[in-house]
Amino acid sequence: MADSPAKNLVQLQEKALIRPTPARFSWAALAAALLVGPAIGLGWAWTAEALQDYFAPPGIFPLLIGVFCGLTVVVLVRYLQFGHRQTIFLAVVLTALVAAVGREYLAFRTWCCLKESLPIIAPGETDTRESHREQARLSFDNFLRDEAQQGRTLFTTYADRRWAVWLSCAIEGLLLIFSALAVSLPAVVAPYCGRCGSWYRTEISIRLDPITAERLATLIDLELRKVPRPPRCRLSICQGRCGPARLELSWERAYGTVELLRLWLEKEQFQAAAALLENVQKVVKKKAGGNVG
Ligand SMILES: [Zn+2]
Repeated sequence: MADSPAKNLVQLQEKALIRPTPARFSWAALAAALLVGPAIGLGWAWTAEALQDYFAPPGIFPLLIGVFCGLTVVVLVRYLQFGHRQTIFLAVVLTALVAAVGREYLAFRTWCCLKESLPIIAPGETDTRESHREQARLSFDNFLRDEAQQGRTLFTTYADRRWAVWLSCAIEGLLLIFSALAVSLPAVVAPYCGRCGSWYRTEISIRLDPITAERLATLIDLELRKVPRPPRCRLSICQGRCGPARLELSWERAYGTVELLRLWLEKEQFQAAAALLENVQKVVKKKAGGNVG
């Protein structure tokens, strides 16, 4: 007897042959990332500089700015249906890097404006020594010295040395980049179809009853008998409906852990599974409606 299509599916998955077509690299997209990433970073650096006089909890503030940097890039690539992961990764890093460096630069510019508005020598003061003039000079080094003298917050302790201010800047920058990457990672690893150029979206999300779980398992030739309770099921596909569909089954295990099984379904299997799940969903909705009525 010939193997069933479902058995072939498992074999194909083992060989990793069923996968969505990956997004293609494009120079135009890379150029856009090189321009747009830093522009977004600069926008957030400006916002951070304006906000930090009112609300800037040490340690948390750079994390927050990083989250906003990452989210902005994610929203943009989702809206534009752009899915080349390496380019997105580069855009996120550039955005976060420009936001981190831009914040310090804008703080320096604000310090310069403040210094310029003050007289170099106070009225009535006669001290014109070279060291006094040097200290009043608008340099980044003097900015750091002023920051150090004022005491820059480094988590719970105060840094009163220039190297500690540098260290504080570096730690804040790394926190910002880290949180931007952390927030964008789930979006970047999400499935994308390079054939129609769209991100996968969830078509059906439902908790299966034991009978439906069995029927679905038969459709895709899956051994579900050892599963302690019926799984939650999520079926997603690209917007052009041309790539393989992704089926996710998850079970809650002991101690609140969740076990997840991911499968890629070919077109016929997707259609059969979708028809089954849509029917179940309709029945569930009808029952819920009947209960409310
Ligand atoms: Zn597609």
